[in-house]
Amino acid sequence: MADQPSGGARPQVVVTRRVPQQVLDRLAAEADLRVWEEPLPIPRDVLIAWLPGCDGLYCLLTDPIDGDVLDAAGSSLRVVSQMAVGYDNVDVPACTARGIPVGNTPGVLTETTADLAVALMLATARRLVEAAEFVKAGKWETWRPMELTGYDVAGSTVGIIGFGRIGKAVARRLRGFGCHLLYSDHSPDPDAGKLGAAFVDLDALLEASDFVTLHVPLSGETEGLIGADELAMMKSTAVLINTARGPVIDQAALLDALRAGEIAAVGLDVTDPEPIPTAHPLLSLPNVVVLPHIGSASIQTRTRMASMAADNLLAGLRGERLPNCVNPEVYES
Ligand code: NAP
Repeated sequence: MADQPSGGARPQVVVTRRVPQQVLDRLAAEADLRVWEEPLPIPRDVLIAWLPGCDGLYCLLTDPIDGDVLDAAGSSLRVVSQMAVGYDNVDVPACTARGIPVGNTPGVLTETTADLAVALMLATARRLVEAAEFVKAGKWETWRPMELTGYDVAGSTVGIIGFGRIGKAVARRLRGFGCHLLYSDHSPDPDAGKLGAAFVDLDALLEASDFVTLHVPLSGETEGLIGADELAMMKSTAVLINTARGPVIDQAALLDALRAGEIAAVGLDVTDPEPIPTAHPLLSLPNVVVLPHIGSASIQTRTRMASMAADNLLAGLRGERLPNCVNPEVYES
């Protein structure tokens, strides 16, 4: 681990975005803060200019934290605390090589993100965004038997890819919809039986599912997990939902598949890149619902995430083990 602070000096902390004031107050009680207050992410050159001599970094998923950024901080940096459960923007091996523990916020956002995944499933399948726009555009003339008809979630077969915290929380909700649940993961999960979910391989899941919902972390293994071949395996009536990370889907292949009618619709809370450009052709398709990465966006959950990230940061500054550490091997040497 990096050296502990020399006695007396207050730790220096960079916070890359304004977080709730009570969280800033907790941090400020123990450290001197430099907070990026602007609405867009802190530019890389500014972050690099702010980091030298800094003891702690409180960051978001919009901040790429790589070896060069860590080198800019130098040997004083003792903790990187990410306000998210996903940490694909952080070069964790580079942190580990420097003895820096990395914190994240697992669990606290599970239910909120699962709510959003099911909401997006319903919104996409039942064409809610299109229907609301239909009303606002003055197109609602009468009740027509087949107008704005979509697909039932109730009773459908749902394939959950990544049966971790959020994947299982989605399964719990969908049991109430009478769905037939399939899942794929590295290995079968002991909780799956209670949730009525069957372990299958990815190909079988794609072929059998009416809905496919993604809950894997972004990694070298999962980048492009859903590409042209996988989309071609899906039913032409299938709906794909992504609340994981944008690059888990090959977005160019997705556009081709939608245009070719290989799948029926897609609901995305995450895109590649983020934000998706407003001129992107996906946004012109009626069977595409795109949300601006709001999976964990309830007031309660975002506040808890900010607080949990502060817990990790403060523990790191005190030389204590982070309550939620993604690279616990830093404590082994
Ligand atoms: P988690 O508990 O770690 O679950 C992820 C699951 O995916 C684990 O069971 C993991 O298995 C499995 N997995 C990993 N690679 C896989 C692969 N190639 N094929 C099949 N399964 C694989 O994480 P979580 O808390 O549920 O969060 C999942 C992800 O959701 C996060 O990493 C984050 O990117 C995303 N997320 C998005 C939002 C949003 O706002 N949209 C909010 C929260 C989270 P192993 O444990 O064996 O690796």
